[in-house]
Amino acid sequence: MQPLTADEIRRSFINSSKSLVKAMTLPPKFAELPWESLDYLGWRDPKAPNRAYLVVRRNDGVTGIALNTQATGKPRRGTGLCDLCHTAHQVTDVALFAARRAGAAGREGNTVGTYICADLACSLYLRGLRELEVPQGETTSPEERAERLNNRLEGFVNRVLA
Ligand SMILES: [Zn+2]
Repeated sequence: MQPLTADEIRRSFINSSKSLVKAMTLPPKFAELPWESLDYLGWRDPKAPNRAYLVVRRNDGVTGIALNTQATGKPRRGTGLCDLCHTAHQVTDVALFAARRAGAAGREGNTVGTYICADLACSLYLRGLRELEVPQGETTSPEERAERLNNRLEGFVNRVLA
């Protein structure tokens, strides 16, 4: 993706209060991100690890979504799949994230839930740029997988906007 500026990121959020955006911490080493290998920018807030952010360039501009995740405290075993990139992980490396819906629905407490790679590094996993602990049954090319990821992202953003 084309690199984003800190300003673009802060202005992009569709489901977040101004105070939350103000409190947001940008990704560590923001200037050194591997933009050319990213389909979206996703990160956990270094100061509030239950908070995460996902920012994507779309046809009509930059869209940011604030996410929340809760640790269940229950021991979990086995493997899990990311809903966005379909990478298989140890179940603890996939997290259930909730996004508040945009607008009135969100103010009434409606959320959209989805399982995403816990570190939001989908783009790096599907390109083989970050190591995986679980064998993958995937034989599709990275380009094809990136295209599918982008389609699923668009679907997710539309659910938050709807
Ligand atoms: Zn993923």
